[in-house]
Amino acid sequence: MIKLDYCYHTHTSRCGHAFGEDEDYVLNAIKIGIKRFGFSDHVMLPGIKQPHSRGDFTLLNDYLLSTRKLQHKFKDIIDIKVGFEAEYADRFVNYYQELLASGKIDYLILGQHFDFDKSDNPQYIKQYKNNISELYHYADQLIKGMQSGLFKYVAHPDLFVTMFKTWNEHCEKVTRAICEEAVKLALPLEINIHASRFWNNNSDFMVYPEVKFWKIASQYPIKVVVGYDAHHPLEFDNQIDVASEIIDKYKLTHIKDYKL
Ligand SMILES: [Zn+2]
Ligand SMILES: [Zn+2]
Repeated sequence: MIKLDYCYHTHTSRCGHAFGEDEDYVLNAIKIGIKRFGFSDHVMLPGIKQPHSRGDFTLLNDYLLSTRKLQHKFKDIIDIKVGFEAEYADRFVNYYQELLASGKIDYLILGQHFDFDKSDNPQYIKQYKNNISELYHYADQLIKGMQSGLFKYVAHPDLFVTMFKTWNEHCEKVTRAICEEAVKLALPLEINIHASRFWNNNSDFMVYPEVKFWKIASQYPIKVVVGYDAHHPLEFDNQIDVASEIIDKYKLTHIKDYKL
């Protein structure tokens, strides 16, 4: 069983599908022994409105103010960083660079839920059911994001499995491409435990973390981190068995003392 004393994947209610007060996320993380913590809400994007997926751009300052305040308030107890979970698209590069260079945020993680390459209002990737060409386009964008140097790690690299009912040769190809790049760039891959809280047998489609992805990943010298991806303060509860089992079963290299 692994022990986690870091978590850099945490949302806030601003995204429209997470709940609770910012401070309660920190307090609950402290309770379970998290020492290094990061807020990484879905990035607010100028000119793009996706209610229920990400906070409106007008909420950016409030997010930065609130999280920096907590960073200061709890500085003797927990190391808090401020960042975003963000999609890669060429046109966002300048904006992300500015957020980082100005010191407004400390880090970004790559969470590719939407493909903004083609549209300002794209569908969530899981809605492209069985769409093989979209899968490859998605993978290209994800890999460009990995190569951009903007991101500290890849959140839920196996998210694409939600497009399919069963594993197929294309899933394997994309898995191998992601893993090869992760090795080349020494970029950690995240085992994400958020969705596993809501697993049920009614879903026909695959869910993540997907063991077939991680089994193939284990053939590469990749490094993994674990993300709670908390959308409610009470998700900081030490229930990390799903990630622990994958790490043990496939003998993955977990960066236990992961620091940004
Ligand atoms: Zn979310
Ligand atoms: Zn995500």
